[in-house]
Amino acid sequence: MKINIKDTFNKELDADKDLSNSPRQVYNSFFSFVRPKTPSNPKLIHFSGEFANEIGLKEYADSEEFLKIVSGAGVYEGTNPYAMCYAGHQFGNWAGQLGDGRAINLFELENESKHWTLQLKGAGPTPYSRNADGFAVLRSSIREHLCSEAMHYLGVPTTRSLSLVLTGDQVLRDVLYNGNPAYEKGAIVCRVAPSFIRFGNFELFAARKDHGNLKKLTDYTIKHFFPEISSEGKEKYLQFYKKVGERTLDMVIEWQRVGFVHGVMNTDNMSILGLTIDFGPYGWLENFDNNWTPNTTDANGRRYRFGNQPDIVFWNLVQLANALYTLIDDLPALQGILDNFSEYFTSKYQKMLQSKLGIEAEYDADFQDTLMRNLESVETDMTIFYRELANLEKIDSPEKALEKVEYAFYNLEEITEPIKNNWLIWFEKYLALLRNETKTDNERKVWMNSLNPKYVLRNYMAQLAIDEADSGNYGLIEEFYLLLQKPYDEQEQYQKWYAKRPDWAREKIGCSMLSCSS
Ligand code: AMP
Ligand code: MG
Repeated sequence: MKINIKDTFNKELDADKDLSNSPRQVYNSFFSFVRPKTPSNPKLIHFSGEFANEIGLKEYADSEEFLKIVSGAGVYEGTNPYAMCYAGHQFGNWAGQLGDGRAINLFELENESKHWTLQLKGAGPTPYSRNADGFAVLRSSIREHLCSEAMHYLGVPTTRSLSLVLTGDQVLRDVLYNGNPAYEKGAIVCRVAPSFIRFGNFELFAARKDHGNLKKLTDYTIKHFFPEISSEGKEKYLQFYKKVGERTLDMVIEWQRVGFVHGVMNTDNMSILGLTIDFGPYGWLENFDNNWTPNTTDANGRRYRFGNQPDIVFWNLVQLANALYTLIDDLPALQGILDNFSEYFTSKYQKMLQSKLGIEAEYDADFQDTLMRNLESVETDMTIFYRELANLEKIDSPEKALEKVEYAFYNLEEITEPIKNNWLIWFEKYLALLRNETKTDNERKVWMNSLNPKYVLRNYMAQLAIDEADSGNYGLIEEFYLLLQKPYDEQEQYQKWYAKRPDWAREKIGCSMLSCSS
């Protein structure tokens, strides 16, 4: 099989001249050449057939050579793998140089006029590994593999995952960071995106006052990934900033729509293409709670909690503006764009919230706030609530409406009289709004069900797939992969996954609590 290799990043930008693979600061370079570590006994445990087809590798996916490439056992002829150099703000603090500590970019390819970069995550150390080992464990790799694909099929901009491989090597991890390290199975995910450039790539050069390379990187990014920008000089960079901002805001609005909590929105985890990237201690909202974060490392400050994600995107966009500033050198113009972001976000976010409710006409903010309060007043499953809501009919009474969404409540006994009354008041308004809409009940249901997924990768589901895989059974990985390709369809055969989080998963590690250990 011949792959249509179209490398640009490692051809058009400068490489680190030091070829040694030891942790260090790397200057005046965009990346360092590095080879994946040879795994001792690689085994392909899953691959994304549909996506392999999309990038022209479908036939190839069963071959020995494919396994070699996606496990790091071999390098495709004529290609030169590399790790990128970037920096970032972590939990609000400047962290300096970070870089691909365990990601190795293999090559770029072109298929049907689309451009893709293939990258291995967990294929061994790089000059950016700092004091870590460069590997990844099976549990976090399953989570990344399944969630990347699930996000794509939900319609959320995301990096993709082509394959999941066991390396046959053992990796030592202290899951709870409490001094109890244990060996786990090593694994590698082959991630794919047009590019893996992050906000942090720009921040690195800006912080080092390396304006020449900052400009080179920005010009490179615009040329390949924002070809629609045709202006020159500062106008070009302003346009670029605006487009990145809008794409990133679109992304976070989609996260809020489906109830996804990223968990580590550091600027090194923000894709310059507005893609969801780096699936670490992420989670899905089960009971609706704006304060929820799956990331135990963030349990105190809750910086990256569900309800705070849009604000964090703004914060990160300010960091990007700071990084790009020397190319623009026009504060009012930059400020103008930032101000427009607020308007852009508010109107699109509002539209998204309305569409989840199946309402086209505008309504007052109080109505939305009351809904949020009600959803938080007792444990209410977000996904199930919106899905069941689509079954309401204009002729329903508020009592009937409440009955129709009952399946979303974790414990019906929690619905005391005052809580019930609050719901009835809200439903009365909601039903009145529905009666004013032109769509029929059925038209509205079809619309709502195309935006409110029936199936998401609930935290406990990922954990079940992990537990099974740990004992050598990969059936659930395939089952979830298939299920989550059609998250908006009824899929009666999978009805058992349309269920609230079971009690055993409430406080379980990996289900409600995740650390960055991966
Ligand atoms: P994250 O919080 O996972 O996005 O990682 C932050 C930084 O740490 C990035 O530069 C990663 O490449 C690096 N990193 C995370 N885990 C490892 C690991 N096991 N080995 C080497 N580097 C890592
Ligand atoms: Mg990262």
